[in-house]
Amino acid sequence: MGIRENAQDTADSAATTGEQLADRRDAAVRAAVEQGVVGPDTPIAALLDIAGIRRSAAALRSAFASATSAPVLHAFAVKASPLVPVLRLLREEGLGAEVASPGELALARAAGIGPGATVLDSPAKTPAELREALALGIALNADNRQELSRIDALVASAPTRSPIGIRINPQTGGGSIEALSTATSTSKFGVALRDEGARDWLIQAYTDRPWLTRLHIHSGSQGIPLALHVAGIRDLYELAEEINARIGRRQIDTLDIGGGLSVNFASDEETPTYADFVREVARAVPGLFTGSYGLVTEFGRSLLAKHGTILARVEYAKSAGGRPVAVTHAGAQVATRTVYAPHSWPLRIAAYDPKGRPKQGPEVAQDVAGPACFAGDLLAADRPLPLLEQDDWVAALDTGAYYFAHHYAYNSLARPGIHGFSTDADGRVRFAVVRAAQTVEEIVLESGGEHAGALLSD
Ligand SMILES: *Cc1c(COP(=O)(O)O)cnc(C)c1O
Repeated sequence: MGIRENAQDTADSAATTGEQLADRRDAAVRAAVEQGVVGPDTPIAALLDIAGIRRSAAALRSAFASATSAPVLHAFAVKASPLVPVLRLLREEGLGAEVASPGELALARAAGIGPGATVLDSPAKTPAELREALALGIALNADNRQELSRIDALVASAPTRSPIGIRINPQTGGGSIEALSTATSTSKFGVALRDEGARDWLIQAYTDRPWLTRLHIHSGSQGIPLALHVAGIRDLYELAEEINARIGRRQIDTLDIGGGLSVNFASDEETPTYADFVREVARAVPGLFTGSYGLVTEFGRSLLAKHGTILARVEYAKSAGGRPVAVTHAGAQVATRTVYAPHSWPLRIAAYDPKGRPKQGPEVAQDVAGPACFAGDLLAADRPLPLLEQDDWVAALDTGAYYFAHHYAYNSLARPGIHGFSTDADGRVRFAVVRAAQTVEEIVLESGGEHAGALLSD
């Protein structure tokens, strides 16, 4: 089969998946309204598509399995969805965890993800975090020279099973979103590979330390073109080959290629797919898949984004200066990036009627506002949609990663409940609580409620 037909095949199956994804989402919205998951007193909730998450995890595994027989650990980047039941589901699908803080490590452990399937990356690991990771036998990647010195001392004082590597920044350049571009020449992450003396320092660091057996990069991210992403991985591979050749044995036995596959926020199509990514890597870095290195990946957004929906009630529909404005319950508290950087993070919005059925009618440019008390709290501005009315529902699509799980406590707005959904044999949608909605009592407690008199003089 030629490349063209292959591409066509992939596009066709992605199209089917996109439609299925939308159908499942519509059914879940309808069921959430009918079953009271949302309602007048629960005007916002987040929904997670369990079948979709499983499908993405399986697509990731099979894309790599079809390209290489090398062992591959797919370590889900916990920051994309720091929810224990999600991590547990992914564990069941054969994934591990990439963690970057004591909290994320605790979540991975609570989900039952073992040390052998966990990778610790963070640019600011404390001595205590390093000690704990080494004691548990968790893989870790040193971000910089000072961190490597700390690890030297810890490794000398106690034996460890942890595979240890160094993170490099290939300095291959940024993408369309500055704040997410990890591989710029001045990025804060990793050892800057193209800086003067860096390559020699790295070669010496590995030569001096037989226990340094991994090399790490995370050069992709939302807005990074695939070619640039893959160029970083090629630099990683070439450096590993050079280090191993200089040492005269295959000391580096595992390459951690990071995550960062961009997500399509413009439609229901999942593009690029993991198969597209693997094909591109295989073309640019054929040596990576020959089996001479074990592999670690750290995908986050691309595994979860398409499987989450924020559903919010239209509390009021009004008009200002000739523009219709729907005041809803979803704003900066659940879609922080979109509200503060709308041009980098536009979200699709779907409109539903009070019964949760897709809303019909001519499209009218309108603002979809959130509940927070600042003027810029808009999910979408001047967006053509069927005219929203009081008691309708809006859904913010593709919000399964980095959105509702990353609550922003502005106005003391409560964290919404998160519900996984699946369809049983009779076609009925069933919901399972992933995270309960935060209560007002919890908000008071978390806001110093137990220390009410702390600032009074005695
Ligand atoms: C954030 C992060 C990831 C995941 O990135 P996505 O864009 O969500 O796939 C992986 N590795 C590291 C080191 C990260 O910081």
